[in-house]
Amino acid sequence: MGVAYKGGCSCGSVRYEIPSEPFFANHCHCDTCQGRSGTGHGSNAAFMADGLQLEGRTSTWDVPTESGDTKSHAFCGACGSPLYLTLANQPGIFIIHAASLDDPERYVPQAVTYAANALSWDKPDPALTRFEKMPPAPE
Ligand SMILES: [Zn+2]
Ligand SMILES: [Zn+2]
Repeated sequence: MGVAYKGGCSCGSVRYEIPSEPFFANHCHCDTCQGRSGTGHGSNAAFMADGLQLEGRTSTWDVPTESGDTKSHAFCGACGSPLYLTLANQPGIFIIHAASLDDPERYVPQAVTYAANALSWDKPDPALTRFEKMPPAPE
């Protein structure tokens, strides 16, 4: 196992540490990622939650997913930084926002999701695997 992925919010009151490597990393152009980020896409990395350590208080808001799950968005109530996503039906998965990492250069995007929803001024990276919507979640 490699070096843990550590990160947190901009003001430092929320911190996380994940011991494993991400199993999926995507730029997501869905409406929610656009709204939450305030720009054309979100940059997410999905991990298995085993060994996850979390410190500090987050606020959350929920959205239903197209697959019938509920996605919970966690952010810092003090500084507003978006931090991570969890899924009600898949509690073993922990998805972080790339720039919340202490070293965001460790984020290596593999795919573009919801490419069909990309805005004209934020074109999906043609070097990445393209999904028009969201690929099926791993078990
Ligand atoms: Zn904060
Ligand atoms: Zn999205």
